[in-house]
Amino acid sequence: MAAERAEAVVLGAGIAGCALAFHLAARSVGPIVVFDPQTPGAGATGRAAGIVTEQLWDRWDVEVTRASKAEYAALAARWDPTAYAVNGFVRWTRRPEVAEALARSVERLEGWGVRSRRLTTDELAAHFPAGRFDGVIAASGCVDDAVVTPSTMAQIYAEGARAHGVDFWLGQPLSAFRKVGDAWQLTSGGRTVHASRAVVAAGAWSKRLLADLGHPLPLAPYRTQAAILRPSPGVPPDLPSAHDLDSDVYVRPEQNGRVLAGDGTEHVEVDPETFRTGGDDAFVAHVAETFADRFPAWAEAELVRAWAGVCASTPDRRPLIGPVPRADGLYVLAGFNGFGVMRAGGAASRLAAVLGSADADRELGRLAPVDPRRFAGWTGTFSPRPGFTLEGGDDPRF
Ligand SMILES: Cc1cc2nc3c(=O)[nH]c(=O)nc-3n(C[C@H](O)[C@H](O)[C@H](O)COP(=O)(O)OP(=O)(O)OC[C@H]3O[C@@H](n4cnc5c(N)ncnc54)[C@H](O)[C@@H]3O)c2cc1C
Repeated sequence: MAAERAEAVVLGAGIAGCALAFHLAARSVGPIVVFDPQTPGAGATGRAAGIVTEQLWDRWDVEVTRASKAEYAALAARWDPTAYAVNGFVRWTRRPEVAEALARSVERLEGWGVRSRRLTTDELAAHFPAGRFDGVIAASGCVDDAVVTPSTMAQIYAEGARAHGVDFWLGQPLSAFRKVGDAWQLTSGGRTVHASRAVVAAGAWSKRLLADLGHPLPLAPYRTQAAILRPSPGVPPDLPSAHDLDSDVYVRPEQNGRVLAGDGTEHVEVDPETFRTGGDDAFVAHVAETFADRFPAWAEAELVRAWAGVCASTPDRRPLIGPVPRADGLYVLAGFNGFGVMRAGGAASRLAAVLGSADADRELGRLAPVDPRRFAGWTGTFSPRPGFTLEGGDDPRF
C-alpha cells in the first residue's frame, strides 16, 4: 500500500493527544493522523481522578489549567453535562510546617487572582459533615475548582477531531517509527504515513519512544493508585474535593453517592508495559485508616474497586511541551507529573498554536517555562518526585 502523507502525526490518544488533535483540527492544520496501539483512555487518562484545581505552584500552570477548565466546561455543556462539575477543593493540615507553607501558598494564589482563601475548622465541618477536624491548624480552599471525567473528555476531544477529518489509527501495534529523509515515518497495521512533524504524546510510554529514536528526555514513569468507595449514606454530588495534606489522601465525589480516593506518588520508576494495574492492599489500608481518622462516618465505606495507573515525572516537576532538542520536526507533550488531566486542554491549545502558526517563535514563548530544550544534553538520573507541592512561585521564568 502506498505511503500516506500527513502534516503531523500524533503518537498517543490519551487526553493530551486527543486534545492536541482537536486543537490542530480547529486551526485547520491537516491532514493529521493520531496513532495509539490501544484506545483513548487506555493509559493514565482512563485511570485518573479528574480533579482540576487552580491551587497550583506557578502562574503558568494556573493560566493553563484555567484554559483547560473553560474548555472542559464548554465541551461538557455541549456533549455530556455529567462530565464536568464545579465543586470546589479544600485542603488541610495538622502540622505547623505544612501550615506555614499553606499560608504562603494562599498568599501567592491570591496574587495570581485565584479565589483561594483560608478556611476555619467550622467552615470545613460545614463542607464535610462526615469529617473530624480536631487538631487541624490550617485549611484553605478554592470555590472555582472542579472535577471532570477524564476518559469522557478524551472521547469528546477525539470525536471533535474526527469530525474535522483527523484520522485515528487505533488498536494495532507500532511496527516502525523513524525519521526518513525529511519526514517522520510511522507504520502500523499495514499502513505507513509520512509527516513533516511528529508529536510524542504517549504519557509514560514517551520515555521509551524518545529513547528508541535516539532523543532521550528525562522522564520517569511511576505508579499511583486510586479507589472508589461507597459510604453509607452516600455523599452529595456537590461535595468539594479534599486533600488531607498529612496522610496525602485526596477524595472527590463520584456518581451515585460514591467517593474516589487516591494517594501520592510512588517514588520508584516502573515500566508502563509491566506495572501492576490492581490496587495494593497497603494502599487500600492507608485509605481506610485515613477515613477512620478524618472521616469517621465513612469508616465502614464499602470498597468498590481499586486500581493503579502510570504517570511520568520530570526532574523539575514541570511538563515537557514543545520541540525535542536537536530533533527537527519532533515535538513532545508529556511529563505531566500526575497533573495531565487538568493541564491537557490548555497545554494542547498552546502547542497547536506553535504547530499551526506562521510565527512559531512567538507562540513558543507561551511554552517557555516547559520547553523541553531546557534539558538539552541532560545526562543525570533522578527518581520520581511527588507532583503536588505547596512550594513554588519563586522561579522568575514562570
Ligand atoms: C490514579 C490516578 C489519579 C490521577 N488523578 C489526576 C487528577 O485528579 N488530575 C489530573 O490532572 N491528573 C490526574 N492524573 C494524571 C493524569 O491521568 C495524567 O497526567 C494524564 O492522563 C496524562 O495524559 P496523557 O494523554 O499524557 O497520557 P495517557 O493517558 O497515559 O495516554 C498515553 C497513550 O499513549 C499510548 N501509547 C503507548 N505506547 C505508544 C506508542 N508506542 N505510540 C503511540 N502511543 C502509545 C497509550 O496506549 C496511551 O493511550 C492521575 C493519574 C492516575 C493514574
